[in-house]
Amino acid sequence: RAATYGRHQYEVFDIDQHRALVERLRMEQALRDALAHGDFLVQYQPEFDVHLGRWVGAEALVRWRQPERLLAAGEFIDVAEQSGLILPIGRYVLLQACRDACEWPAQHPPLTLRVNVSAQQFEAPGLVDDVATALEICGLDPGRLCLEVTETTLMHDTHDALRTMERLKAVGVELAVDDFGTGYSSLAYLKTFPIDAVKVDRSFIAGLPDERFDVALVTAIRELARALEIDVVAEGVERTEQRDALRALGVCRIQGWLYAPSLDQDVLLETLSRPPVGERPRHAPH
Ligand code: C2E
Ligand code: MG
Ligand code: MG
Ligand code: MG
Repeated sequence: RAATYGRHQYEVFDIDQHRALVERLRMEQALRDALAHGDFLVQYQPEFDVHLGRWVGAEALVRWRQPERLLAAGEFIDVAEQSGLILPIGRYVLLQACRDACEWPAQHPPLTLRVNVSAQQFEAPGLVDDVATALEICGLDPGRLCLEVTETTLMHDTHDALRTMERLKAVGVELAVDDFGTGYSSLAYLKTFPIDAVKVDRSFIAGLPDERFDVALVTAIRELARALEIDVVAEGVERTEQRDALRALGVCRIQGWLYAPSLDQDVLLETLSRPPVGERPRHAPH
């Protein structure tokens, strides 16, 4: 296609590619420095159950502390993955998150800690040991930890993925599929893999309550999940109408800016100590 614009287009392409490469290498080096200097931190975005009327867990999200501002994972996670730096970063997140989750208020059932695991981490030989070690060091009940993987991760090598999942289940942790619905042939995974929860991708929550497709998709996921006894979490919920639609469709677990963004541990602890504004506990905690 570039050829139709003449010979010089190739040069423009090359310059752009070169710039992108230089930028990537620069960020990769900065990530290395950040690891060495301890410039990563973990924030937590809580998850609320509208049926129970209480918080049910929180997701660990890595952040990069820079002099001017905090960078969200979405701004650097790709480079971390491409460079392999996600492995040490992921180990840090896992350990820190397990430590922090031990300080969360006790309740029954206990608050779930959700931790994201990239394809590379999932495929690395040390993952299961890292998880078991982190739980042991922190004294966190394995049943309180839920690892989130994407469908794409499971697609890479179904056989190995299944083995890894079975080993993780043997450790006692839960498993969730993140960004559910965005991958290829999602539903088949629920049959193949020992999955405890699915997180419906934000892109399907965005159109609620008006988009017919989104309503149909969420309904289908909820039906299937109910039959298979899998939890459904809606992510990226920003508006009350979305929340109301989800509640009407029988999806109770809600995560999104409507209730809370990602928070530092101390703010999270305050937040977890009472229901969000306008929400009341519907069942007294046992
Ligand atoms: P994710 O696991 O699907 O996380 C949800 C992302 O959506 C987060 O972005 C979160 O801050 C953002 N978000 C939450 N609520 C809302 C909302 O109401 N509206 C909108 N527009 N966005 C919302 P973040 O933190 O930039 O993370 C992006 C992705 O990076 C995550 O997607 C996850 O796949 C990955 N990630 C984050 N932390 C880690 C980590 O510690 N390890 C690994 N391997 N991946 C991570
Ligand atoms: Mg996630
Ligand atoms: Mg997600
Ligand atoms: Mg997502």
